[in-house]
Amino acid sequence: MKKHNFYAGPSILPEFTKQKTAEAIIDFAGTGLSVMEVSHRSKEFVAVMEEAQALVKELMNVPEGYSVLFLQGGASLQFLMAPYNLLNTKAAYLNTGVWAGKALKEAKLLGEVVEVASSKDANFNYIPKKFSVPTDVDYLHVTTNNTIFGTEMLEDLDVPVPMVADMSSDVLSRPMDVSKYNMIYAGAQKNLGPSGATLVVVKNDALGKVNRVIPTILDYKIHIDNESMFNTPATVSVFGCLQTLRWIKAEGGLVEMERRNIEKADVLYAEIDRNKMFQSTVPDKNDRSRMNVCFVMTPEYAQFEKEFDAFATAQGMIGLKGHRSVGGFRASLYNAMPLDSVKALVKTMKEFEQLKG
Ligand SMILES: *Cc1c(COP(=O)(O)O)cnc(C)c1O
Repeated sequence: MKKHNFYAGPSILPEFTKQKTAEAIIDFAGTGLSVMEVSHRSKEFVAVMEEAQALVKELMNVPEGYSVLFLQGGASLQFLMAPYNLLNTKAAYLNTGVWAGKALKEAKLLGEVVEVASSKDANFNYIPKKFSVPTDVDYLHVTTNNTIFGTEMLEDLDVPVPMVADMSSDVLSRPMDVSKYNMIYAGAQKNLGPSGATLVVVKNDALGKVNRVIPTILDYKIHIDNESMFNTPATVSVFGCLQTLRWIKAEGGLVEMERRNIEKADVLYAEIDRNKMFQSTVPDKNDRSRMNVCFVMTPEYAQFEKEFDAFATAQGMIGLKGHRSVGGFRASLYNAMPLDSVKALVKTMKEFEQLKG
């Protein structure tokens, strides 16, 4: 039976990425060796790193003066590394969920943190809109897509200070204005490739302005000066990311990714809103994530939750269980998710309604 992969991360990847990585696991770039067993300093792997960095710049339309890195330690290490490098005295944080809160907690170790707004009062089911950002902060930190709660900031904010953004779960899902950000980071495992690497896009001029000593491995400048090879990168992960970047380019870039992501999300939210057994956990349609669609049974049908889970699983739907802090269901529709899988889920929801509604 066809499997429809709705996992939140690690998550679905393009067939192209899987195929090319599978081939390179056996024979990488005609070396007769596996991509797992060649030096990161071999000319073949250096070419992978360079092309991946160049494609990120091209696809995201990164302005001059920014560097692209593939580090390790996940987005979680960036919660610490970003303030280490960019927070001199004071930073602003927008608290939109669990990940945003974790980023905020680390920043507090290094300076004064202003929480400009929080949606905790409603279990993070919306994106705060009316808040002001102090002009004397080094940056405003935002989490553009809240993977657990299914909310997303679908446009780049207009604020008087540079932003730092955790884009782990919506990077490369739409065109964006990188010039508004001093730094962007994203774990590979949601929209890019296999887990292991973390994408970092950082503005060179924003570095070197803090008064603290930065431990070598945490210093972006060290990684930039060493072309993202200060220490061994997650080679297989970077190889996989490169294949996804090539795939995105061949499919039409971020404009086309956004078009598809809007279409897929519209199809699923329309069914959630129509079907009397289900409801979205995000009331304001403008805040609904295109990447992670969170929904629950309506109170009237709450007793059918486990049954729907089993029903969907039997139809090949994988990874639909919602995060424990929201409950219900979460369908992650990353770039690689085909529209057909979304339609299959909608069909399952309609059939379940006919059966039990
Ligand atoms: C998954 C996720 C993280 C954590 O990523 P790791 O790579 O596991 O550290 C952080 N932020 C967001 C928005 C995420 O979705």
